[in-house]
Amino acid sequence: MSAVPGKTFYLETFGCQMNVHDSEKVIGTLVHEGYEQVQTVEQADLILYNTCSIRDKAEQKVFNRLNDYKKLLKQGKRFGVLGCVAQQEGEKIFERAPHVSLVCGSASYRNLPQMLAELENAQIEAPKPAGRKAELANLVRITGLDDRETDACFETEFTARTNPHRGYITIIEGCDKFCAYCVVPFTRGKERSRTSDSVLAEARQMADLGYTEIQLLGQNVNSYKDPAGKPGGKKTFAELLASVGEVPGIRRVRFTTSHPRDFGRDIIDAIDAVPTLCDHVHLPVQSGSDRVLAAMQRLYTRDQYLERISWMKSAKRPLSITSDIIVGFPGETEQDFADTLSLLDEVGYDAVFTFKYSPRPNTPSLALEDAIPDQEKARRLEVIMSHQKDIQIIRYKKYIGSELEVMVEGKNEARKQWIGRTSHNKTLNFAAPDSSVPQVGSYVKVRATQSFPNSLLGELVI
Ligand code: SF4
Repeated sequence: MSAVPGKTFYLETFGCQMNVHDSEKVIGTLVHEGYEQVQTVEQADLILYNTCSIRDKAEQKVFNRLNDYKKLLKQGKRFGVLGCVAQQEGEKIFERAPHVSLVCGSASYRNLPQMLAELENAQIEAPKPAGRKAELANLVRITGLDDRETDACFETEFTARTNPHRGYITIIEGCDKFCAYCVVPFTRGKERSRTSDSVLAEARQMADLGYTEIQLLGQNVNSYKDPAGKPGGKKTFAELLASVGEVPGIRRVRFTTSHPRDFGRDIIDAIDAVPTLCDHVHLPVQSGSDRVLAAMQRLYTRDQYLERISWMKSAKRPLSITSDIIVGFPGETEQDFADTLSLLDEVGYDAVFTFKYSPRPNTPSLALEDAIPDQEKARRLEVIMSHQKDIQIIRYKKYIGSELEVMVEGKNEARKQWIGRTSHNKTLNFAAPDSSVPQVGSYVKVRATQSFPNSLLGELVI
C-alpha cells in the first residue's frame, strides 16, 4: 500500500520506558488518522521527536537533531517536538528552533488528531512562500500543553504496541516527590493514578491478544492510589500487581519505577505469593550518603533504604536488584562518594545505571552551587562503573550451571545465537540445534554455561 501524499511521519524517541510507551500511543493515534510511519527523515512529511529532559545532554540532542534537519523545511517537511522538553519549554521551542510547527506535551496526545488537522489545513491554505524568511513567517505554530492536570484516560484508544509479546501499561502519571534534581514533576505534572478496573481490563485485553509479559509503568508506581472502585474494592499497588499477575495467559509482570520511601513490604509478599511476578526489583537509591540523600530531598536514609533491600533478600525466590545512582550532586564530598561505593558492596546490585548530575530548569537544586567540575564527575562515574562491574562479574558467575526460563526475544544471526531474557531481567544468549528452533515470544529453558559482566551465555535445554 503506498502512503497518502503528505501523510508520512518519522518518529524518534529519547528517554525512558514511559517515553517509549508514549511513542506507542502517538504512533497508534497517527496511524488511525491515516498517517504512515516511515523509517527515515528523508521519507517523512512530518518529523517528530519524542523528547526527554531528565538530563541536559538528552535535551541538547533534540535541538541538535532539529538543527541538522532544518534545511528540509524547504521541501515542505514539518517538524514537531513532543514529550518532556515540549512540556518544559513550551512555546520557547519556536524561538530556539523556528522551523518547528508542533509542540505537544505528553498529556496532550489524545488531542493530536485535532492538532494534526489544524496543521494540515494550514498547509493547504498557506500561499507558497519564497525564501527561508518567508517560509518561517508562513509557518503555522500549534501548541498542546494544557491537559496534564486532568484525570482522563492514560492510554490513547489506538496505542500501537511495537512488541507483540511484551507490553507496557501506564498505571500512574506524574510525580509529587520533587526530588531536588528532578524535572519530572514539572514536565509530567502531579500524580494521577488510573483505576485498577481499567488497568485490569487492559491487562485482560492484552492477554487475549497474545501478550504474555506486562510491565506496569509510572514515575513512582509505589505511590499508586486507586481513584475509584467499589466500596472496599480499591486496590493498593501490591494488590494491583498481584491481580495483573493472576490474569490468565500472563506469565510475567514487571514494574518500574519505584521510590524507596513508598516501597512497602507488601510488594515482596505479593512477589512471594504470585509466581508470575518477576524475580527483579529496580529501586533507585541515587546516593549512599545520608547527607546527600537529604540534600537531594529523597525522603529516606541509607538505613531505611537498606531495610527495603533486606525485605527483598528475604523473599522466597532470589531476586535481582538494580538501581540508579547520580554522582557529583552539589556538595558531594569524597566521603559521600565513598559511602555510595560501600553501599554497592552492601547491596550487591545486579546492575546500576549511573549518571553525572546536571542542573535542570525549575528544579530546587538549581539554587545549589554546581561546584564539582565535570572532569571530577566523570572520574567518579568511571570509578563507580568499574566497581559495579567487579560486583556484576561475581553476581553473574553464580548462574553458571543453572537452568533458567527465558522469553525468546530474537536471534543474533551473526553470532548464530538466540537472545533470551530471564525473569531476573538478565540477557541470556543461547545456542539451539536446527532441530529445535525456538519461536520468538516463547518461553524455553536454557542452561547457563558462561558469564560476562552484563549477560550470560548458554544452551537450550531439550
Ligand atoms: S521520585 Fe524523584 S526522581 Fe523520581 S520522578 Fe519523582 S521527583 Fe523525579
